Amino acid sequence: MNPVLAPATSASLIRSEVAGLPLYDPGADPDEVAALSGGHVIKLSNNENPYGISPTVAEAVRRTLAGGVSRYPDPTGKRLAEAIGTNLDVPAEHVVLGNGSENILELLCQAVLDPGDLVVTQAPGFALHEIFPRVMGARVVKVPVTAEFGFDAAAWRDALAGGPKLVFLANPCNPTGAMLSAGELEQVVAAMPESALLVLDEAYGEFARTDPEYPDGLEALRGQDRPWIVLRTFSKAYGLAAFRVGYGIASDATLIQALDRVRTPYNVNQPAQDAAIAALGDHEHLAETVRRTGLEIARVTDRLRGAGLRVVPSSTNFLFIDTGCRSDQVAQELLRAGIIAKAWREPGYETYIRASLSTPEENDVFVRCLTEICAKGKL
Ligand SMILES: *Cc1c(COP(=O)(O)O)cnc(C)c1O
Repeated sequence: MNPVLAPATSASLIRSEVAGLPLYDPGADPDEVAALSGGHVIKLSNNENPYGISPTVAEAVRRTLAGGVSRYPDPTGKRLAEAIGTNLDVPAEHVVLGNGSENILELLCQAVLDPGDLVVTQAPGFALHEIFPRVMGARVVKVPVTAEFGFDAAAWRDALAGGPKLVFLANPCNPTGAMLSAGELEQVVAAMPESALLVLDEAYGEFARTDPEYPDGLEALRGQDRPWIVLRTFSKAYGLAAFRVGYGIASDATLIQALDRVRTPYNVNQPAQDAAIAALGDHEHLAETVRRTGLEIARVTDRLRGAGLRVVPSSTNFLFIDTGCRSDQVAQELLRAGIIAKAWREPGYETYIRASLSTPEENDVFVRCLTEICAKGKL
């Protein structure tokens, strides 16, 4: 029993922008799903890496713990920022670290947006590209994809003509997994207002980079004399989601300094900094993760299509799948089998689920359950 508290309410204190926000949906709780399904849980809801971390990362974290964690972490993360800078051939002053790249999305909104400012992003899209701007009182316009999940050049030109201050563009896109080509990215850049900030979110870039058509955002933007920032993360291909570490590379040190003013001083903890440095150095582990993921994406896409489901071609570690039924009910059926996938809720996509892939064995269980549920149909 919880102790009884007086019926206080803070309702009148909450800013209207905050009270009206949708809650970010992290997917079902694995402990609750284990209780429901009575056993093993297959978590496909958060685009995580099923292959685990590099052994050198585990060793780095052990060393950090052995050295003690009673001191605050390096507030500037200089060793990690320098390692990233060296890796990508950019000065460390152009690098910002975040408690996940989500943290940097939030800092960018805090540093840049005034109430009423316009933000442009994609639909379907990543919830935080909308939630964080709305916290600041900004207006968010979402540009839809084409019926084939492609880039709608005319819609982007129209939206950008509205004069946004900030543009969030994920490449590849979450939840569709589709990527923009170099030419499409160029069209966005060309149509951007001169002084607007382009935030290119490359959370899945490591997976997409095996495709020669995928434009490396940093290389595409390096020469642009307008504000931009490319965001990347250790949460996905590197497998460090629990550590929460992401980074951004910006057009200019002034933007980084602004983010430094708004961030909490110790936003990236020391084990995470040290783990990320080790992860950056283990190219083979990353390559192996990307290779195995690519094989599974191709195999599972084929199998689901063979069963008659529409699957968007993916350049990532997840698939956007039209179940042909109400996806919230499909997701509920999957939960009963111990499988967590994300039912999509954006208008027009209510029959879609997003599922990240796991090991071949777990993916087989997912394919079997999903095709059975869809075959039963008409949920
Ligand atoms: C997963 C994801 C992120 C960030 O993840 P962090 O764990 O906060 O680094 C950012 N953008 C998109 C589109 C994502 O899917």
